Amino acid sequence: MADDDLIVQRREGLYCPPGDFYIDPWLPVPRAVITHAHADHARPGHDHYLAAAPAEGVLRARLGEIALQALAYGETIDHFGVRLSLHPAGHVLGSAQVRLEHRGRVWVASGDYYVAGHDDDAREHNPSCAPFEPVRCDCFITESTFGLPIYRWAPQRDTYAEIDRWWSANADAGRASLLMGYSFGKAQRILAGVDARIGPIVVHGAVATINDAYRAAGVVLPPTHSVLDVDKASLKRALVIAPPSVQSSPWTRRFGDYSDAFASGWMQLRGARRRRSIDRGFVLSDHADWPGLQRAIARTGASRVIVTHGYESVMVRWLTEQGLEAGSFATEYGDEQEDRTEAGEAAGESA
Ligand SMILES: [Zn+2]
Ligand SMILES: [Zn+2]
Repeated sequence: MADDDLIVQRREGLYCPPGDFYIDPWLPVPRAVITHAHADHARPGHDHYLAAAPAEGVLRARLGEIALQALAYGETIDHFGVRLSLHPAGHVLGSAQVRLEHRGRVWVASGDYYVAGHDDDAREHNPSCAPFEPVRCDCFITESTFGLPIYRWAPQRDTYAEIDRWWSANADAGRASLLMGYSFGKAQRILAGVDARIGPIVVHGAVATINDAYRAAGVVLPPTHSVLDVDKASLKRALVIAPPSVQSSPWTRRFGDYSDAFASGWMQLRGARRRRSIDRGFVLSDHADWPGLQRAIARTGASRVIVTHGYESVMVRWLTEQGLEAGSFATEYGDEQEDRTEAGEAAGESA
């Protein structure tokens, strides 16, 4: 690492020396720039938070009363001579890449981001938040959650169609459809993409709280109901969206006979569905797939790339082969909480 790097690794997290602030730190610090409100990136205990304006509602829903400065996407502020701006990452509501400019150098820290496949097709954007915006820079700090060549997402419209077909068939058979996914991000992504004409949509309380923040931020989601507001007959035609923690919990008993499914990028792994003992697995991720990561990195024009959470070594090797200067930061970011078990299993499987 050169002495004048704009972002370095410290015990507390990724640190900008000239600006004297951290990005998504895992230990409490005076000034934290937060890329998005997932628990591993937005932790409690910092004195001051800076985040993209659309993230405000979800951040406050998760962290309560915090000293938060919200910045519109593209708006710039100057901090100790560092020009800082936030740009959409396409991952979840309010997710941002952090652009830093200092003495003519530009660094971008991606946080988690979603961009699919090889080409820029508007139908493939995450329908629940602003799409990823490529930002030119000298050095790009990229996530690499799905940084292995096996991860290639099918067009999301195909996945939504699959979910709709599964839900329709269950409704026709008089069975509720329990679709599990992370309550912040994945649940809203599902809601924004399914065909709400098939039947009523029921959401778990954890999902409802986050839905409120999305709707308050202007994201259009179909009408959703609490399980208590839906009669037994309607439940049999319902799509039920809940976090994975409900699996085989008493909460699911009221559905009687139901079909269950899980939506995650990890569902692309052979055996993932069977290990979770669920009827269906839908491959739907809020992270870039392997070609998506490559495309996003290429479009920054960066000559240097630093890889964080994910399959760092595979990605670093690939980048080096492309003639780029590549390295990695060891961070304490996981994937979204519920995905972690699957990630561990994936690592075990490839070992
Ligand atoms: Zn995330
Ligand atoms: Zn992450």
